[in-house]
Amino acid sequence: MASVVPKEREVLGELQQLMQLQTIDYDLGELERSKEYLPDMMENLNREIDEIQTRLDTAAKTREESSLRQSSLELEVATKQKELEKYQKQMMSIKTNREYDALVSQIDTLKQEIDTAETEILNIIEQLSGLEKEIEESKEQLSGIEENNHKQLDILKVKINSIGDKVADKDKERAAVITSIPRQVLSIYERVRRGRGGDVVIAVKRRACGACFKSLTPKKIQEIKGGGKIFTCDYCGRILYWHESESP
Ligand SMILES: [Zn+2]
Repeated sequence: MASVVPKEREVLGELQQLMQLQTIDYDLGELERSKEYLPDMMENLNREIDEIQTRLDTAAKTREESSLRQSSLELEVATKQKELEKYQKQMMSIKTNREYDALVSQIDTLKQEIDTAETEILNIIEQLSGLEKEIEESKEQLSGIEENNHKQLDILKVKINSIGDKVADKDKERAAVITSIPRQVLSIYERVRRGRGGDVVIAVKRRACGACFKSLTPKKIQEIKGGGKIFTCDYCGRILYWHESESP
């Protein structure tokens, strides 16, 4: 019996090292994933700024175009007003009915055109006031979002730039841990990790493998609890251990 105790300790130590390795590999995986999602996050933050900027630019452009249209209409109204005054003066010196009818018709047409232009001007003034409000709001929103997003972008940049160093640190940690894991055990670990992904060292849950839920025989459970050697799940190949929170 004396030999069982060191053996159990040895297996326990191996399991602990495997779990340490598993944590390092998880961290490495997260770092690898962060190479994808950190740039995505940066892109989203930049896009958010761009969208408001585009909205602001569009509103400013519409404002400019509408202002130009307003000026041109005002000029048109002024010109037509002068023409109208001229026609109205001519009314004083009318000689024939025909002349009178022609002049009345010209005056009516001019009045109608002036009326149409003035209606358009009023619509533009209303539109411009809406645009003014929209531009103010967008500017305010933009400055808030720019401030916030630039802060976050700076943090993300630092994170992205440090990935390489963090990976190098984890690689070193990994190299140190695996030196104390027996080659055979390590090869089980590596094979399952490559083949299945995710955690390799798994606690028994409800008398089954905690990963694939394949139930375990009472004999196997006893063996795992005994901790004489490293046991794997017959179905998924993951390394199983007994956690004391599991009901006996
Ligand atoms: Zn399994």
